Amino acid sequence: MSRSRFSRRLLRWYDKHGRPDLPWRLAGNPYHTWISEIMLQQTQVSTVIPYFHRFTKRFPDIIALARADLDTVLHLWTGLGYYARARNLHRAAKIMVEKNNGQLPQDFQALQALPGIGRSTAAAIAALAFDQRQVILDGNVKRVLTRYHALDGWPGERAVENQLWSLADAHTPNKRLADYTQAIMDLGATVCRRVRPYCERCPVRTSCKAFAQGNPQDYPSPAPRRSLPVKAVTMVMIRDQRGRVLLQQRPPAGVWGGLWTFPECNDDDVPAWCRDTLGLSVRLDDRWQPLRHSFTHFHLDITPIDAHVLGASGQAMENPDVIWYNPNKPDERGLPVPVKHLLGKLRETYEPNR
Ligand code: SF4
Repeated sequence: MSRSRFSRRLLRWYDKHGRPDLPWRLAGNPYHTWISEIMLQQTQVSTVIPYFHRFTKRFPDIIALARADLDTVLHLWTGLGYYARARNLHRAAKIMVEKNNGQLPQDFQALQALPGIGRSTAAAIAALAFDQRQVILDGNVKRVLTRYHALDGWPGERAVENQLWSLADAHTPNKRLADYTQAIMDLGATVCRRVRPYCERCPVRTSCKAFAQGNPQDYPSPAPRRSLPVKAVTMVMIRDQRGRVLLQQRPPAGVWGGLWTFPECNDDDVPAWCRDTLGLSVRLDDRWQPLRHSFTHFHLDITPIDAHVLGASGQAMENPDVIWYNPNKPDERGLPVPVKHLLGKLRETYEPNR
């Protein structure tokens, strides 16, 4: 099918069946487009919607986001995962305030130079917010195109990915770029779904090779299998007499960068480690069942240890990266999901004056 026929059919379908009522589309605000595109990386629309509302209510524009504390930004991101996205949004907002009057740049190269914005995301923002002819290739588009062309090979391989960029470019029209970009993303999300695609509703099925072959679900080819490594960590959940819990802020980069977690101890002698590292004398109460948290590249097995401070709890406060956190009156700070879960369990087991 020619470029014009593919895009014409897709746009006709979009005019009838697209999703123009998604919250980030209603205002036609480039800032909303940017926030939503970052949130939608690796995350489904239904999950993103409440986060998007909370985030844009709290930070209505780039200037408000740039002025915010990173802790508040991470707090509003808690549960969405891939926290580097939130840190990059915050950094990018500061750069835009400094260099572009608090506005999203319209220039494609300038967009791509901002933290957290890769080639496809920059193209999506430029097309959706500024109607520029830019080519996107996100997970949804890769799925549509590998099926439509019955393209073999895992899209994570450079050669396959390059072929997909060429095909995506060949199908991108010269007009109605915002609508076309939204249309192909919507087709992938709602019709050409990963499992059980609705081919009978698809506007391009008459020329789709995988549909003709009867095997759309064979595309895209899966990534080569590999088993993820497992890392183990002990988290010491130290409580004081008032039921407050010691949390430590992680370094700004890396896994859970900038978030607050329980102190991680790799020493067999936990009380000695607490004394030497945190300046606290503790009593260990219970070793909880380990729980597993999976990242893209590894599994983390967490063994939580319930502990109580003996004597004064003030000494640890000499360390600026440490706070006593009150789970009953939580303040705004970013917490990884397993830490939030464990804090909830601690709240259930809190016994005053123990
Ligand atoms: Fe996807 Fe089916 Fe449409 Fe082909 S016909 S693009 S497999 S939904």
